[in-house]
Amino acid sequence: MNNQIAVFQHPDNMYQWSLAQQCALRRIAVVPTMGALHAGHLSLIRLAAEYGDDVIVTIFVNPSQFGPNEDFAAYPRSAEHDIALCRDAGATAVFLPAAEHIYLPEASTWITENVLSKGLCGVSRPLHFRGVCTIVAKLFNITAADVAVFGQKDFQQVAVIKRMVRDLNFPIEIVVAPIVREPDSLAMSSRNAYLSTEERTRATGIFKALQQGAIAFQNGNMQATKLRSIMQDILMEHQLEIDYATVVEPESLREREAEVKPGDVLLIAAFCGRTRLIDNHILADL
Ligand code: AMP
Repeated sequence: MNNQIAVFQHPDNMYQWSLAQQCALRRIAVVPTMGALHAGHLSLIRLAAEYGDDVIVTIFVNPSQFGPNEDFAAYPRSAEHDIALCRDAGATAVFLPAAEHIYLPEASTWITENVLSKGLCGVSRPLHFRGVCTIVAKLFNITAADVAVFGQKDFQQVAVIKRMVRDLNFPIEIVVAPIVREPDSLAMSSRNAYLSTEERTRATGIFKALQQGAIAFQNGNMQATKLRSIMQDILMEHQLEIDYATVVEPESLREREAEVKPGDVLLIAAFCGRTRLIDNHILADL
């Protein structure tokens, strides 16, 4: 394909372009990413094209959402290739800012969501969602988007962002896209590139745990403790180090203590070697 794509590095240039599109009554959809794009990201871009006349893909490895001992430096970066993928998937613009234009010296304003971001990933990554909310709010402002598309893969992130949008009256619609998986059902992730061949095999235990949890629920096992222990056993069989393997109510993200209901979500975060992987599954109606 040889359709054109505009690439912006400075927030002011991105915003000027977006304003011009708005003046032309074009609806803007944004897909925030950290790059190293895979088929999961591309599915978000294609979905965004159904909601917007223009699709802006943002590519920024956001330092403020990584903890001090996490993989910020090692995170895969492939800007040129990513731009070509965005163009082929139907994006009309890419925003690829330099960190110094995003976080100005002595930046001292942050957005903190105080409830949904505290549990699950927030326990082991205490400042992660502060970084996510702040960068996402900035990207919403810089792109002036009408719609933003996020993946269900990051279930807690979607809940936190929806809450931020509601609480702070961001004039933007949030669309959630389904999880795209590898042929063996491992959820696609830029971090899968870290896995050795042996780890890659063990990583399939995450989906198997979700699957067995879902099957148990379908078979009438409604007790949260039972579903948790089914998932934990499978993760341990695959020598995955469990951060959490639980079932939550989808809006509040509160852990179920007793009976699990259709619509509740099985959520897993586990280390495969040094790589932290997350995945989830929404329990279907019985
Ligand atoms: P990331 O680049 O990992 O920050 O992800 C950018 C966006 O892509 C987020 O909204 C993710 O939820 C979404 N995403 C990542 N992996 C997948 C996947 N396997 N399927 C669908 N969406 C995904």
